[in-house]
This record gives sequence, C-alpha cells and structure tokens, in this order.
Amino acid sequence: MSTPAQRMVAEQLRPHGVTDERVLQAMASVPREEFLHPRMRRHAYEDRALAIDCGQTISQPLVVALMVQAANPQPVEVALEVGTGSGYAAAVLSRLCSKVVTVEREPALAEHASETLRRLGFDNVEVALGDGSLGWDPQAPYKVILVAAAAPGVPPPLIDQLDDGGRMVIPVVLSPDEPQDLRLYRRSGSDVTYRSLFPVLFVPLRPG
Ligand code: SAH
Repeated sequence: MSTPAQRMVAEQLRPHGVTDERVLQAMASVPREEFLHPRMRRHAYEDRALAIDCGQTISQPLVVALMVQAANPQPVEVALEVGTGSGYAAAVLSRLCSKVVTVEREPALAEHASETLRRLGFDNVEVALGDGSLGWDPQAPYKVILVAAAAPGVPPPLIDQLDDGGRMVIPVVLSPDEPQDLRLYRRSGSDVTYRSLFPVLFVPLRPG
C-alpha cells in the first residue's frame, strides 16, 4: 500500500524532472493535508497551488520539489525561507538540512504554521515574524535561501545573507503581465551569478 504522498511522488514529481532521491523521499514523508484548512484537505494531493488563509497559497508540490532540488540543501546546512505560508515547504526543506529559519509577514499565518510544524514534530524549523525581504540577520549567512513570493528584483539583504557557495532560488517579476522568472543564484566569493529555471506564478513579496 502506498500513501497519497508516495503516489504524488510517483505520478507528479518523478515524471516531471524531480530526480534527487533525497528530495523525493522528503516529499513522500510530509503530509501536505496537515498544512491545509480542513475543508481543503480533500484537494491536498492535486497538482496545484491551494488557498490558505490571508489570501495566500500553499505552493504546487512540483514547484516546491523543483525549488528544493535546485537549491540542493545538504544535511549540515542552515536554510532560510522567505514566505512561510502554511509551513509546508519549510517542512520539506527541514528534512534535508540541519535547520530552517522561515520568515512570514502575516502574524496569523506565522502562528498557525508554527503550531502545525510543532504538532507534526518538525523541531528544526524556526518561524520568524517579519519582513522577509530583509532576510533574517540573527542566523545569517545561509547556504540555502528559498523565496516563495515574487519581487521585481532580488532584495539586496538576501544577496548579502547568501553564504559563500550558497544557493538561492527566487521568483523574479519581469513585467506585471508575464509569468515570473524562477532563478537560481549562486555565490562564489564576492561573485553572484544566476541562471533561469522556469516560469512560475507566485504571490507578490510585499514590503513591511
Ligand atoms: N512556502 C509556502 C507558500 C507561501 S505563499 C507554503 O509552503 O505554504 C507566500 C507567502 O509569502 C505568503 O504567506 C505571504 O504572506 C508571504 N510574504 C509575502 N511578502 C512577504 C514578506 N515581505 N516577508 C515575509 N513573508 C512574505
């Protein structure tokens, strides 16, 4: 017998470019329904973003998996996520690195995600309330940064908080009526370069 999350891995992730076995295992082990409102739970394993509170969304599983795979988190590394939302992506990421700090600007979402993560035993995730476009200075620099909301450019504090050898995955708004460009940034010393991954649709990164 396979679980719904295992079927999601087999049907939605493996055939669509998720090849890293560690990422597939992490995706199979996190119960996405637990991060949803009870009335949304029957949709938990559909291949799409779903509504959560505060007009926000939980990302599509395939997009979470491809972002995490591109960032290539390692067991000893500390990761920063901007845009906690439901806490689902932070939970997946937490299976692959030593610690995740995730920043959310909506107090109700931060509190709810923190409670869900605690209840499910994701003890290496810290939810912080604040403006994630400023990053999270207390634990910087980070080897991995995942940004789950789109901005017209990369907020400079996030570049500053990317460690040497670090990888950041972030959706960048090119124009208001076009999909965003999901990018993988890498730092090597003072050199920061990026490549485009694929077009995406994320909610906006809002200041403050
Ligand atoms: N990773 C989430 C999906 C997040 S949707 C999940 O797995 O469920 C994007 C989130 O970014 C929303 O919750 C939104 O409130 C938050 N957000 C938007 N602007 C932000 C900012 N400046 N700082 C922190 N969070 C922000």
